[in-house]
Amino acid sequence: MSTAPRILISGGGIAGNALALQLVRAGIPTTIVERARAPRPGGQAVDLRGASREAAERLGLMPGIRRHQLDERGMSYVDGHGRVYGRMSMEDFDGKGAIAEIEITRGDLNDVLLDALREAAASGGPSNPVGADESLLDQRYGEHLVALDQQTDGVDATFASGRRERYDLVVGADGVHSATRRLAFGPEDRYVTNLGGYAAFFTMPTPADLEPGWFAMRLVPGAMFGIRPDGDPATSKAIINVRTDRDPALRGDPAAQRALIRSAIADGGWHATRILEAMERADDFYFDELARVDMPSLSSGRVVLIGDAATCGSPLTGMGTAMAILGAYLLGLEVIGLADAAATAAGSGDGGGGVGGLGDPVALAAALARFEEQLAPHAERSRQIPGGSLAVMLPRTRIMSALARVNVKLMLSRPMRPLAKKLFAGDAEDLPLPAEQTAAPQPVE
Ligand SMILES: Cc1cc2nc3c(=O)[nH]c(=O)nc-3n(C[C@H](O)[C@H](O)[C@H](O)COP(=O)(O)OP(=O)(O)OC[C@H]3O[C@@H](n4cnc5c(N)ncnc54)[C@H](O)[C@@H]3O)c2cc1C
Repeated sequence: MSTAPRILISGGGIAGNALALQLVRAGIPTTIVERARAPRPGGQAVDLRGASREAAERLGLMPGIRRHQLDERGMSYVDGHGRVYGRMSMEDFDGKGAIAEIEITRGDLNDVLLDALREAAASGGPSNPVGADESLLDQRYGEHLVALDQQTDGVDATFASGRRERYDLVVGADGVHSATRRLAFGPEDRYVTNLGGYAAFFTMPTPADLEPGWFAMRLVPGAMFGIRPDGDPATSKAIINVRTDRDPALRGDPAAQRALIRSAIADGGWHATRILEAMERADDFYFDELARVDMPSLSSGRVVLIGDAATCGSPLTGMGTAMAILGAYLLGLEVIGLADAAATAAGSGDGGGGVGGLGDPVALAAALARFEEQLAPHAERSRQIPGGSLAVMLPRTRIMSALARVNVKLMLSRPMRPLAKKLFAGDAEDLPLPAEQTAAPQPVE
């Protein structure tokens, strides 16, 4: 009887797809369930730097990423008339400022991952190098977990469709409001802290007078709004952050969410009116809390968390996607290592679910602990918010907002650049990744 391990990933976003890619390439049967009925498009430019970029290189994703790479030259701060009073160019800050050398929209990055995943499933993984092995990847859209029942030798997962299946490992990659985390670790309010505001993102037509390639941003009392380059020059991404008390009624109420955004920026001058008009028509309007996730441990028995579900430092850090790729990569290394070791020990080449493999609770616990230990220093640094807090970034009163503007000018001046670089990028580049896998994956063209 085969002891090939079975892995369930909940969430088909960046973290879930990046992990599935590695597992399928390694020939490990993987089920991935995504609550949305199709891959979710949308999202702003996200950046890859330091260890996350190295992980993307090792996963062979860079050719695909380069194809969609944005022409983003820097960030500028504008006043109510659109006059620039501060600039942070990518080059002056060596890609360590707000804009990194590699910027890609979240939706495009997800497409690069999905293309690679399809290709990996079609080529069948190392256990079947000659052809497609459909059984390696089971991708289900419009499906989600409703219950998890952990036993020592497996987890019984129950889905909304009524299906019930047993897995060796369940991975929660289902975002900041993770259902997997709730089912395995307890209620969300134990782990998620609202940092005092909300963020919205959506696509809009590019205003004619916008400087091409620049992310222009305006600070107003209690909010910021900006327009960022998109893959298509005819469109841009609008970004709005609002400082306000948490209001649970906003969840799942797009009309109330839009009303909040309107009241925060309507009098902001510059392109506020255009942004608000575009918001009414946007079909990719995304709105969520500016929230941080703090987990005492990333695993509980046979359930482990990655991405925002595990380590979200809020969109203010700009590190969510980087950490999603990195967490998926590090967990993938451990899971594949465990499966390989068990398969070798058994001399069976059956995929490694037996003794010392994913089926073995002691070996699995040790592998998950190693994963967490390796991710921890990256996770800690990824939570640093430029400026320290939302309150510092977005003061509420006019006078404090004017002072924030003076502060921006000062921080962007040449003598202050080294400090500004540190505030934006932290020291993430200094943190190494564990040794590379021996069998490097083929790049995705
Ligand atoms: C459409 C979209 C747009 C975004 N835009 C931005 C942006 O502009 N800027 C920014 O900083 N961050 C944005 N984010 C968040 C950003 O993607 C994450 O911070 C980061 O990429 C971490 O990746 P993740 O895979 O952990 O989470 P996500 O990329 O959020 O992926 C989580 C996935 O899990 C799915 N899911 C949720 N609940 C369940 C469930 N119960 N069962 C199964 N699946 C579930 C979601 O539909 C989603 O596809 C966006 C996320 C989404 C989904």
